Amino acid sequence: MTVLSRRHLMLTAAGAAVAMPFLGRGLVFAQEPAAAAIPAFLPTVHTRILGNTTVTTIADGHFDFAKDLVVNLDDAAYGAALRAAYLDPEQPIRVPVSVHLIRQGDQLTLVDAGGGSAFGPTTGHLAASLAALGVTPDQITRIVMTHLHPDHAGGLVGDAGAVFANAALHVNEDELAFWTDEATASAAPADVQPFFALARGVRDAYGDRVQTFAGEADLGGGITTMALPGHTPGHSGLRLSDGDAQMIILGDAAALAALQFRHPDAGVAFDTDAGQAATTRRNLLQMVTADRIAVAGTHLPFPGIGHVEARGDAFAWVPEDWFATRA
Ligand SMILES: [Zn+2]
Repeated sequence: MTVLSRRHLMLTAAGAAVAMPFLGRGLVFAQEPAAAAIPAFLPTVHTRILGNTTVTTIADGHFDFAKDLVVNLDDAAYGAALRAAYLDPEQPIRVPVSVHLIRQGDQLTLVDAGGGSAFGPTTGHLAASLAALGVTPDQITRIVMTHLHPDHAGGLVGDAGAVFANAALHVNEDELAFWTDEATASAAPADVQPFFALARGVRDAYGDRVQTFAGEADLGGGITTMALPGHTPGHSGLRLSDGDAQMIILGDAAALAALQFRHPDAGVAFDTDAGQAATTRRNLLQMVTADRIAVAGTHLPFPGIGHVEARGDAFAWVPEDWFATRA
């Protein structure tokens, strides 16, 4: 079993340092701004209309994904896939960390909470992006977790405990059990202990506001959970239905757009079961392709909303046009 480790974080932090030339890559500025004038982060949101529901992608930040974190893909295929996406195979893959806000009247449902201070300096901007929407953490009525990795759960807690004072916290029961189990934690390498500690801290901070779900659970408002195991034991997606409109928030079931559509069997070192994750990914991508369902993902290129196209035995990512999705 391979789990997220501090060693991995150090690798990505080192990647962040060498990846600065990525800033502005592929963009043409009418007047090249001075480097010092480019802020490290700008609050960034994108709203997608789904019937009477709005789904807003909220930027929490980004991280850089080192090549040695990719599993079940050989070097030649890795290089070809990145070059096909106009990325440099010699550089880490930069991915966003996105959080989704589902608004239905007074019900404000957050899907995941970003990295907070638990995932390095380039994440943890959720509150700033929420503020740009005019939303404060106290207004969030519930949070549904896709899984408890620190780039998704770190933003749930801060120095003063629970960041979201009024929200119910919905977590898959297998996910919560795995990451809060003392025996599993003590058998894990020492450098992974902080991630189990984070899950226990989240459980304790939210106390009786934690609600577990299993498999496909109806959360009301046309929101149903989906079991998408493999990346973590209780990794879950959300299916949103509003009339004929549907969308699936797939969490990390497909995380690296340049690799995991073209090579669905390619996994990441963070997968607790890369084989199961690959099966989950293939089944999910086949289903959304056949049913033409829009998907949104945490690490897909911002704003990370689009469709999936079949390409023989594999798939392709088809991003939605930014403006076409506006009201
Ligand atoms: Zn993630």
